[in-house]
Amino acid sequence: MNVVNSNNNINFNGRYSLSNYQACLKGGAIGDALGWPIEFSRLASIKDEFGPKGIQDLVISRSGKAEVTDDTQMTMFTADGLIKAVRKTLNLEELPDMQEVFNSYKLWLNTQFGSNIPKKEGWIAQIKDLYATRAPGNTCISAIRGNNPGSIAKPINNSAGCGGVMRVAPAGLMYHNNPKLAFQVGAECAALTHSHPRGYLPAGVLSEMIAHIVNGKNIDEAVTETIKTLKTYKDSEPVVELMKSAQMLAKTKVDPEDAIRMLGEGWVGDEAIAISTYCALKEPKNFQKAITMAVNHNGDSDSTGAILGNILGAHLGVEKIPEKWLKKVELSDELGQLAKDLYVKPQDIENAATRYPIK
Ligand SMILES: [Mg+2]
Repeated sequence: MNVVNSNNNINFNGRYSLSNYQACLKGGAIGDALGWPIEFSRLASIKDEFGPKGIQDLVISRSGKAEVTDDTQMTMFTADGLIKAVRKTLNLEELPDMQEVFNSYKLWLNTQFGSNIPKKEGWIAQIKDLYATRAPGNTCISAIRGNNPGSIAKPINNSAGCGGVMRVAPAGLMYHNNPKLAFQVGAECAALTHSHPRGYLPAGVLSEMIAHIVNGKNIDEAVTETIKTLKTYKDSEPVVELMKSAQMLAKTKVDPEDAIRMLGEGWVGDEAIAISTYCALKEPKNFQKAITMAVNHNGDSDSTGAILGNILGAHLGVEKIPEKWLKKVELSDELGQLAKDLYVKPQDIENAATRYPIK
């Protein structure tokens, strides 16, 4: 799967390659899977169960794979919706039709509570392994069930949970040419279900950071640039402060366990992006160290693991992710294909009419 498509404007600085796109999505899945067995455990009990360093390896389920959760599942449906929306206009310079993304979230909801696999909604909704319920977030379920998509301009609730940010990495990949638009698209994807600024602005942050990173900026530069955009949004001050704290803490010798505790537990969107960003800045060259750091804490381990995996995967490429993890994580091949669909121009996606049908 690790092939660079020669038809694209690739490798202008050695970063924007299919490998980085695939590692962004697969890295996210690995972090999600690593954190899933300890999502609801405090650090002390994680250490009791897995030893003084906490969990260090994927837990393999009876299926022979390490299970992913709603974070990865919804990331795949964000990509599904964005690709369908962009296929309508072939325009990557404006906000896409967010109703398409919401429609894809309805397809995700059907994977959680439906029994039928729809035949005419494209290939993502037909992946049988996505029909698994792994502690999905209540806000996502109720907002999608309500069938009333929110937006930044039209709040539908007061939710600030990390369910908005943990699913938007595809927006950063798809809109990498325009990082400020990537911010807006990511934030609007989250605002479909999460109306509090601490719920949707972190999604903008993740999305713009991913765009800068695949464009060749290092992680610290990506954070600095993204904070500039973040500041232009209303009610962004708490998110700005946490992102600055993450950046500052990563430059100190504070023990990572203490640093993460200072940033929060990750149940809220800005805490999740701050913890993940801190871990990526602390160990930018070592995927294994960063991802174990990102999940071993008191809070929402699968989401902070997933977001760290998105960020550091985009930075490092698949070559720097342990091969055993790439093989063992659920949906790895499908994520690789999805990354390819995000990587090529929308008009060049293979069999797009059946794989990403538009009405
Ligand atoms: Mg989860």
